[in-house]
Amino acid sequence: GSQEDEEGSNSSVTVAVRVRPFSQRELADKTVRRVVSMCGNETTVTCDNGAVHRFAYDFSFWSFDSENGDFAGQELVHGRLAQPLLSRAFEGYNTCLFAYGQTGSGKSYSIMGQTNEVGIIPRFCEDLFFRAQAVRDINQVKISVEISFFEIYNEKIHDLLGSSKEKSGKKPTLKVREHPVLGPYVEGLSTFVVNSFEDVEGWITLGNKNRATAATGMNDKSSRSHSVFTIVLAQTKTEMWEGHEHDHSITSKINLVDLAGSERQSQAMTSGERLREGANINKSLLTLGKVISLLSEQSAQNGKKKKTYIPYRDSVLTWLLKESLGGNSKTTMIATISPANSHIEETLSTLRYPF
Ligand code: ADP
Repeated sequence: GSQEDEEGSNSSVTVAVRVRPFSQRELADKTVRRVVSMCGNETTVTCDNGAVHRFAYDFSFWSFDSENGDFAGQELVHGRLAQPLLSRAFEGYNTCLFAYGQTGSGKSYSIMGQTNEVGIIPRFCEDLFFRAQAVRDINQVKISVEISFFEIYNEKIHDLLGSSKEKSGKKPTLKVREHPVLGPYVEGLSTFVVNSFEDVEGWITLGNKNRATAATGMNDKSSRSHSVFTIVLAQTKTEMWEGHEHDHSITSKINLVDLAGSERQSQAMTSGERLREGANINKSLLTLGKVISLLSEQSAQNGKKKKTYIPYRDSVLTWLLKESLGGNSKTTMIATISPANSHIEETLSTLRYPF
């Protein structure tokens, strides 16, 4: 849930704020000033004119040695945010985790991480197989894990794991379809069964490579696309019933999402294709914010009022995640911010993103 000094709101979604350390470039700048401080679960932003903005979400993750907060490394962030989602997944619920913030604020660092500082996706997968083994041994359950990895760029879907190419040499664009029972899905998306963490690691490496390749020469396309890593966990138990064996399955979907940079696109994008693209990014982040806040309002009302219309289909991202956002699903958002005065406007707008 969230609370802001200026405008309070009630939410069933878990929201965390993570401030990154200063970059080398910022440290070299004599005028740089830290405008963010954290205490408990509260994040405070202090403007040059002395105005103070306080935001109380569920978690505040600090990246400096001094002051009240503890330094929050990758393991701690994973433990607080992702491990509870893994437990929910094993209970059979769908989950989503999003990283939201301006480009360069630490979304990829949090979701994917780096070689010696791996982030949530690899940690989550490693934990999942560890847990799967324990569940197999104790409950005699068959477990299967399937993954896919794609990006949404300009409202179009590109497979990050598939190898198929069109004659032009370009990767094909995939479309969303809606199954009458299973709901929305990406038509033609590659999915892979994985049996170990090592299996997953290979796919993660390939996906990251494909994402980076696609971004080259495109003015950092990856900052303007959403990447979605999906895990489908199926647990099957065979039970005897009236002398016959019956399979009973529960399936849950976990979506780990690195969102497009939330910075306003207007200055950089002035015409044609770029303008349309900027509008699409804003629209999908806006729709996601709207969907999440409508869902949390709905759950706060506990179904007392009439059913709210949720505009899932207003963006490809929310449409695809429809079955993983509503109902009993669990959603966690990690809002990443810069500590520096030079980014204060973007930081404030990230912290006000509608929860
Ligand atoms: P984004 O995905 O939001 O564009 P990145 O995750 O690429 O941003 O982060 C930008 C830079 O800041 C990277 O060099 C990354 O290593 C560094 N960084 C981000 N967050 C942290 C953090 N919490 N601790 C240490 N370094 C970080």
